[in-house]
Amino acid sequence: MNNTKLNTSIEYVKGVGKMRAELFKEELGIRRCYDLLNFFPYKYLDRSRFYKISEINTSDVYVQISGVFKNIVYKKYRNRYGIEAKFFDGEKNIKVLWFKGLSWVEKSIKTNQNYILFGRISWFEKLPSLVHPELERVENFKSKSIKLQPVYSSTEKLSSIGISNKAMIKIVKNLFVFLENKFDENLNEYLNKKFKLISPNQAYHNIHFPENHDLLEKARYRLKFEELFFNQLKFKLSHNKLKRNKGYYFPYVGEYFNNFYNNYLSFELTKPQKKVLKEIRNDFASNQQMIRLLQGDVGSGKTVVALLSILISIDNNYQSCLVAPTEILAFQHFKNFKDKFENLGLVVKVLTGSTKSSDRKILLNDLKNGSINLLIGTHAIFEQNVIFNNLGYAVIDEQHRFGVKQRSKIWEKNNPPPHVLIMTATPIPRTLTMSLYGDLDLSIIDELPPGRKDVITVHRKDKNRLKVFGFIRDQIKQGRQIYIVYPLIEESKKMDLKYLEDGLESITREFDKENYSIGVMHGRMRSSNKDIEMNNFLNGKIDILISTTVIEVGVNVPNASVMIIENAERFGLSQLHQLRGRVGRGKYDSYCVLMTNDKISEDAKIRIDAMVNSNDGFKISEVDLRLRGPGDVLGTKQSGVLDFKIADIIEDESILFSVSNEADLLIKKDPKLNLNENYNIRSFILNNPINKSWNEIG
Ligand code: ADP
Ligand code: MG
Repeated sequence: MNNTKLNTSIEYVKGVGKMRAELFKEELGIRRCYDLLNFFPYKYLDRSRFYKISEINTSDVYVQISGVFKNIVYKKYRNRYGIEAKFFDGEKNIKVLWFKGLSWVEKSIKTNQNYILFGRISWFEKLPSLVHPELERVENFKSKSIKLQPVYSSTEKLSSIGISNKAMIKIVKNLFVFLENKFDENLNEYLNKKFKLISPNQAYHNIHFPENHDLLEKARYRLKFEELFFNQLKFKLSHNKLKRNKGYYFPYVGEYFNNFYNNYLSFELTKPQKKVLKEIRNDFASNQQMIRLLQGDVGSGKTVVALLSILISIDNNYQSCLVAPTEILAFQHFKNFKDKFENLGLVVKVLTGSTKSSDRKILLNDLKNGSINLLIGTHAIFEQNVIFNNLGYAVIDEQHRFGVKQRSKIWEKNNPPPHVLIMTATPIPRTLTMSLYGDLDLSIIDELPPGRKDVITVHRKDKNRLKVFGFIRDQIKQGRQIYIVYPLIEESKKMDLKYLEDGLESITREFDKENYSIGVMHGRMRSSNKDIEMNNFLNGKIDILISTTVIEVGVNVPNASVMIIENAERFGLSQLHQLRGRVGRGKYDSYCVLMTNDKISEDAKIRIDAMVNSNDGFKISEVDLRLRGPGDVLGTKQSGVLDFKIADIIEDESILFSVSNEADLLIKKDPKLNLNENYNIRSFILNNPINKSWNEIG
């Protein structure tokens, strides 16, 4: 940044001052002029257009009308007073209402004088009306000066100290004066030309005070381009291995791997599984720490990739760990790995929050002296007193359940930090991966093992319940097992249990004669009881498992062929997809029945349809992203990483792909950004304090 004023406090901008600057910082995180300059209006009101009352329709949100007030009267509405007036545009009337500032309205608004009203349309009984509109006498209205009026988001505190939108507009205008209208070029000539970007000067003026719609669009394009470009460049630079940690060197594929691969692996790996394994081997044999994200839909076979790569780590005399998000999953992995490892003469142990302290003591000791090859467990592994002899490789399953902070604790378990493989069964749309995990290497398993059939998914309403019960009978007769899942209501654990209890009661009643064995599982059970129940289901002792979403992630019971999801309209898409992934794991035809109320919302309908129409997790995640936006899809504060000021990774997907490509080309040509032509890019990176965090990974 060449204009050094961009880095100074906004305190010095006219109209701000010390006290307001403090509040801007607290309320909106705006400290420097650069921050304020990049605090863009969230919408614009079109003040160039005047409406006739007769042409207002339900798609209009804001309207501007010129006319006169007719009879202004006090009225009593249920429990409060208000003022109601008719506003006449020469043809037609519109109702105008006030509920606050009544004495001001009474004093200052005169009938039969010309006003311009501007406000949001409300509809009452199919008639438009305006509540608390902005108003101005015609003689005071300067139509030339405002066309698209910026609207800035604000907070209660800021409004209360007098920073209204009007005041905000003034402050931003003063900012332009303070900066002497000098705005840094942060890109290079080649990009500006190729993408026909307008200058920063034009862009900043038109994003705050658009001259017209066209220039506003161009301003938005430029600023989005710049923002996404630096987002991608940041990842690619750290990718460029300039900043990666030194890592362990695992050059050998040795006896353990080969023995298992040749003698114990009961199936051929799929093509993508082989490819991922190769990618991991390449990383292991480089001198850098691997930080790799492995995405693969439920059932795509990520576990065996983890297992084989763990064997390589052991072949090279390093310990590994495998971290799962829940105890059920940790034990499932343990069960799965135990025999295999023992066949190879290796030691695997499991550590969770409920490991007995006497066992824990022995385990920690063995871990420290190196006699444990693989430690499987929950986040209990992250704890500080869990010390490895030489941890070389950490696999983290179902990554989205862990916070970034939690994850990074693994980094501290050895020095240099171990190689890390993060496995996630929640496919994330490519745009999200690019903009959020651009600093991780990405592996994808995009093919299911052969012979896997799609889970047949249907939508059934409450009124079809009897038929669904008939279907359950039929499947159990054939030897299959059934899941029935009820919604988990975070805000009300009691409600949650109520659903489950009601469900249990009705199922018990329904299958009274059949003598089916029915199991129950929910989050408030002790985890040992959950495990007993889960094991009974796994061993076929339970025909119908009634549960909340605690069974959501990773559980593997191949004989279960039906997943019934009650109140499916209450579930998010990715959750529905995860739940469906619990069936279709064996050789049988499998079914997912989405039960809903007879009436459901539009949104719910889209979710249900997406499920019925597709088994592809990536496709489903795209729909999910469109419905909910990135923050909610990721479900945690991680979305903060995605706090783009102007870019929108859904809407601006194509810009993202372009800039990603350009960033690649740029680094290829000028890896350290030393060329003259890239001076501005380099200078922006080096001189902008927000880029200080660029090296942080995870
Ligand atoms: P996920 O990716 O959801 O973790 P898993 O690793 O649990 O999936 O694999 C699901 C099932 O598919 C397991 O029973 C596993 O043994 C089996 N599997 C994995 N890879 C293959 C393959 N290449 N061929 C046949 N079956 C496979
Ligand atoms: Mg899994």
